Amino acid sequence: MRRYYQKTQSQQLANLKRSIILWRAKALEKLGNRCVKCGFDNQLALEIDHIEPCGTSNRLRGISLYKFIVLVSVNGFQILCANCHTIKTRSNNEFTGPNGHKNNSVKTTL
Ligand SMILES: [Zn+2]
Repeated sequence: MRRYYQKTQSQQLANLKRSIILWRAKALEKLGNRCVKCGFDNQLALEIDHIEPCGTSNRLRGISLYKFIVLVSVNGFQILCANCHTIKTRSNNEFTGPNGHKNNSVKTTL
């Protein structure tokens, strides 16, 4: 019986991962599949950026964000590559920790 649950659990996890990958690809396609700053287009390093930082814990993330972009609206979102996203985030002091709150302890200058 335990083996059945372990197998079911791993299948559910695999299905969830597939679903996240699919929704992410659809969201990236809807937003143009390339970084709006530099044109980089390798999906592995593309990220969805909230154009106006919200910095709150109710910010859409992960599959909820992807579904929102695909099914509701692309307004307020853009694609940035990992480098451009990091530069924007740190230049504007938009960094938020895992709980969505601003982390002012992160240094933004070198
Ligand atoms: Zn870029």
